[in-house]
Amino acid sequence: MHLFEYRDGRLHCEDVDLTRVAKEFGTPTYVYSAGTVLDHYMRLDNALAPIDHLICYAVKANSNRTILKLLAEAGAGFDIVSGGELFRVFAAGGDPAKCTFAGVGKSREEIEYALKEGVYCFNVESEQELEQIDNIAGAKNLRAPIALRVNPDVEAHTHEYIATGSHQNKFGIALDHIAAVYERAARMRNIEIVGVQMHIGSQITEAKPFANAIDKVAPLLRELKSKYAIKFFSIGGGMGIIYRRALESGPGKWWRDHGGEASAFSVRDYADAILPQLRELGIRILVEPGRFLVGNAGVLLTRVLHVKQSGGKKFAIVDAGMNDLIRPALYQSYHEIVPVKQPKTERERKISKVDIVGPVCESGDFFARDREMPELHEDDLLAIMSGGAYGFAMASNYNSRTLPAESLVRGNKFALIRKRQTWEDLLCGEMEPL
Ligand SMILES: *Cc1c(COP(=O)(O)O)cnc(C)c1O
Repeated sequence: MHLFEYRDGRLHCEDVDLTRVAKEFGTPTYVYSAGTVLDHYMRLDNALAPIDHLICYAVKANSNRTILKLLAEAGAGFDIVSGGELFRVFAAGGDPAKCTFAGVGKSREEIEYALKEGVYCFNVESEQELEQIDNIAGAKNLRAPIALRVNPDVEAHTHEYIATGSHQNKFGIALDHIAAVYERAARMRNIEIVGVQMHIGSQITEAKPFANAIDKVAPLLRELKSKYAIKFFSIGGGMGIIYRRALESGPGKWWRDHGGEASAFSVRDYADAILPQLRELGIRILVEPGRFLVGNAGVLLTRVLHVKQSGGKKFAIVDAGMNDLIRPALYQSYHEIVPVKQPKTERERKISKVDIVGPVCESGDFFARDREMPELHEDDLLAIMSGGAYGFAMASNYNSRTLPAESLVRGNKFALIRKRQTWEDLLCGEMEPL
């Protein structure tokens, strides 16, 4: 579900006409729907209601402070991967005691900070890291709560860059080796074993890989539960969203039959597939969704700068670039792109193929290739759908382009939640010492 739809021929986010947002804040601008984020959170929370659970939002997907605050107020914990993310969670009023600290490489400074603030758990990915945390905690006379990240070696059927649960990649500790590492951990004076963690990948659209991974890890969990007083099992994030045909309802349907297949991840199916095993384990369950909560809750508004014909191809050059939204360039990912003003006449609705590209000096700077679109013109406002996750969070200043603005819609209200950078901001921190 999401709250973007056409009303009176204009694309709305909740009760706000997106042409108003573009007029007020300019383009490119990310627009997020508070109602959609909260709806996704509640649906997952309700689906997991039969078991003791905590939803730890994966901050890396979208770390804007206002988004974090929204989720903190709804009761979420947070899955963080850096000291900077912990700092952000604080700034948003989140509770460090509900934070899990993940990542394959944590610096001394980050570990000290997380210890001082009392995070719920360090998710540890190697014996070397375990030793490091033991040492640092020892120097501070503290005990560090830890979970080891198990790599269950399952196939997640997703893009190779975002699959994390097979032995081919750098993540976690192999299932057949992990009991030994727990034994070592148990002998460390400044380590407290509190859980087990896994995360098999991202944008997984079926429930089966999750259930398979849980089945594979369940025997280990039973063993650990009897040996150490572990408190939780984190089954990671990775629940996928619909990128194709992101806009399903209303009169905007007319050209969508040209698109690809929608593959929906259903919270119901997910819960049905995993709850029986999890209930049997009788332990607190953590989930770490990022994309699922925020992905379809955001769009990137952009304006067409030029439409150009070249070498038998048509290009629409827009004012957003790969520095604003890198997913198509990085993962060959598909984003639905729709005009904010719905074409009215037959002529306007005529569909042709166009590459929608940004202004950055890279051939990889595209949002769509050979996309079937209605006639596009200079100044047309477009919405790149499903941009709420790994959108702004991965934005950069490449080509000395300023970071885009971010805005939030709540009902009939909308507001800026991050100012567009200025050219002065680009020089911030630079020096001429010699
Ligand atoms: C990235 C990540 C997540 C979130 O992934 P999504 O696909 O956005 O749900 C959760 N846990 C860990 C350990 C991660 O690295």
